[in-house]
Amino acid sequence: MNNFAYARAHDVADAVRQIAADPHAKFIAGGTNLIDLMKEDVERPSRLIDISRLPLKTVEETAEGGLRIGALAPNSDLAYHPLIAQRYPMLASAILAGASAQLRNMASTGGNLLQRTRCSYFYDLATPCNKREPGSGCSAIAGLNRMHAILGTSEACIATHPSDMCVALAALDAKVHVAGPAGGRVIAFSDFHRLPENTPQRDTNLQPNEIVTAVELPARGFAANYTYLKIRDRLSYAFALVSVAAALELEGDTIKEARLALGSVAHKPWRDPSAEAALRGQAVNQATFTRAADLLLRDAKGFEHNAFKIDLARRATVRALTQAAAGTPQSQSNKKIR
Ligand SMILES: Cc1cc2nc3c(=O)[nH]c(=O)nc-3n(C[C@H](O)[C@H](O)[C@H](O)COP(=O)(O)OP(=O)(O)OC[C@H]3O[C@@H](n4cnc5c(N)ncnc54)[C@H](O)[C@@H]3O)c2cc1C
Ligand code: SF4
Repeated sequence: MNNFAYARAHDVADAVRQIAADPHAKFIAGGTNLIDLMKEDVERPSRLIDISRLPLKTVEETAEGGLRIGALAPNSDLAYHPLIAQRYPMLASAILAGASAQLRNMASTGGNLLQRTRCSYFYDLATPCNKREPGSGCSAIAGLNRMHAILGTSEACIATHPSDMCVALAALDAKVHVAGPAGGRVIAFSDFHRLPENTPQRDTNLQPNEIVTAVELPARGFAANYTYLKIRDRLSYAFALVSVAAALELEGDTIKEARLALGSVAHKPWRDPSAEAALRGQAVNQATFTRAADLLLRDAKGFEHNAFKIDLARRATVRALTQAAAGTPQSQSNKKIR
């Protein structure tokens, strides 16, 4: 492990000042991803700027009827927060599908957004990886790619974004509040993460001198008809092969509003406006759901070991929509486990 300096940020302005002063510095929040990457020598920050004590842990109601979640709100606190559990249960369900109770206690909202891919070649310094070392090549394209992307891939990288929480945030049309040297700005969730294209080393559109301060949820929470469905190799403590956030607003048997996002199939949570449009105004039935799933997966492309994910994602989408419409979400237990 390399030597690095450590400093605590006193407030958001101080955090921005410190990160802007050193291009090789990194923020540390819960440390559940960054410390692993440092131990593996994948990340080599010259300085860790500890933001964990900044007053960004609250969940507050907004004037527009939504919620503003501080970037340092721990994943556990968020999942069990009464306003999240009542108004945004799909988000609570997605968070509780991720990691373990201990990790969720440490993991922060901002850190979850910025966690890095679980592609094994990214963690293996002995193999080429364009994300770790731009221009070196991608070992996964002709290698072991069972967990990799089927949508939005490029010739440079086929990694997925592994978060569960982000899939629900994408479906809910969240916004990300950030602060930098020029002040604050707001990024639509769908614009926050990037596709790999020819710069896979960049996971997001956050600038290196910016900090995430909050995530904002709009008023619409889809609390009656939602599902977060996670398909994985083990029933707990495993990253998704495929996950689906499905949310519906129904008027009788007709779909008034619909949201669909897929996780672990692309470099970012995957949404397709045409799939959601194909649900709006339609009757609740298998034919409607199958049509939407086909649209969502229409550009999917498999590699040697992951082509099965295309059909898996299609079936999982139909199942998630069916459960959401029936008002029987596949939720994690709401029992408080810490
Ligand atoms: C064994 C294991 C299993 C896991 N399983 C799952 C799973 O099934 N599903 C899932 O979704 N996740 C899973 N995770 C990932 C976990 O959710 C993330 O590690 C966690 O959310 C990261 O949050 P953190 O606060 O610890 O981030 P840190 O490790 O502190 O930081 C991560 C990155 O974010 C940056 N950062 C942090 N906060 C900010 C901020 N406010 N502004 C700008 N940059 C910031 C840091 O500089 C760093 O680059 C797992 C992790 C482990 C170790
Ligand atoms: S898929 Fe991306 S992260 Fe994985 S080896 Fe290829 S370039 Fe690296």
